[in-house]
Amino acid sequence: MTAGFVELVGSIHVHTIKSDGVGDLKRVARAAREASLDYVVVTDHDTKGYGLEHEACYVDGVLCLFGAEATLPEGHFVVLGFPGELPHLDGMASYVRWAKEVGALGIVAHPHGGGNARVRVPGKPWRAGRLPDVGGIEAWSYMFDWTDAVRPLTTLKHMLRPDDALSGPRPETLAWWDERAAEGPFPGIGALDVHGLRTLPWRLFGLMSYERLFPTLCTHLWTPPLTGDGREDAATLLDALRIGRGFFALDSLACSRGFVFKAGERLPGDNALLSKSLKLALESPVEATWQLVKGGKVVGLAEGREAAFGLSGPGVYRVEGYVRGRPWLFTNHVRVVADD
Ligand SMILES: [Zn+2]
Ligand SMILES: [Zn+2]
Repeated sequence: MTAGFVELVGSIHVHTIKSDGVGDLKRVARAAREASLDYVVVTDHDTKGYGLEHEACYVDGVLCLFGAEATLPEGHFVVLGFPGELPHLDGMASYVRWAKEVGALGIVAHPHGGGNARVRVPGKPWRAGRLPDVGGIEAWSYMFDWTDAVRPLTTLKHMLRPDDALSGPRPETLAWWDERAAEGPFPGIGALDVHGLRTLPWRLFGLMSYERLFPTLCTHLWTPPLTGDGREDAATLLDALRIGRGFFALDSLACSRGFVFKAGERLPGDNALLSKSLKLALESPVEATWQLVKGGKVVGLAEGREAAFGLSGPGVYRVEGYVRGRPWLFTNHVRVVADD
């Protein structure tokens, strides 16, 4: 149903020993391969880390891309697709401006990451305001969703079954995403922010290890077929990511490979021309409950492995899927435009 495209499943926002993660690139790639990921995007704090040695490469069959996470008191900003090392700049507005100038993709990391002292995670929300030049948003952060949920009586339960603690993207994050997507391409991703931490409490049960987290929240992208050349394939992946041609899903709840949502023949990230015959349709590998969201409002409901929705005029449409009442899959927006 997605002629000319392949589906790449991977993880964006991964830390290694080049900053405060515990794994080297080999270990990260091995864990990614074991989780059947096609790609990982490594974003160490304030450095391109391995990206200074290799521009992009395959390790153990996994496409590895390198960006960096600008880490400021005003917030964290994941930047991909820029030459050389991350510069040292004064303030988040300067990073956002710089990213735009060099043609990089800058993504607001954990925008509403409140943190939780009980598990020693300080709050790291975005405090730099809605800067118009940011290029995308972490719509769902596994790490901060999990830390939000932990309470004294639930800590052990949530350590044993971390996925069960997740409540999905925050409404205020989705609101920002929908608002900006109405103005132009503004990709949303699901991110782990995985460090593989070995300190307590993370050491318990291997909680938050690469191996445990990679099979969970993944970002799926539709790209033209890859060539096997790391540099070329990284550019292809980044092109899809920039426009949001994809979705993110909690694949440990139900594997979402093969899912597709389209307006006519157009995928999320693309523009579709409004016509009387244009339909929004989805196909899913598993049964789910669906919500069609237009400009931040739920405008349609459905259930099952297939669903079709009528259109209510031009605008940005996305779909949310729930499995057994739990948040599962969120597509990027397809933009329906009027012929004028
Ligand atoms: Zn961060
Ligand atoms: Zn991070």
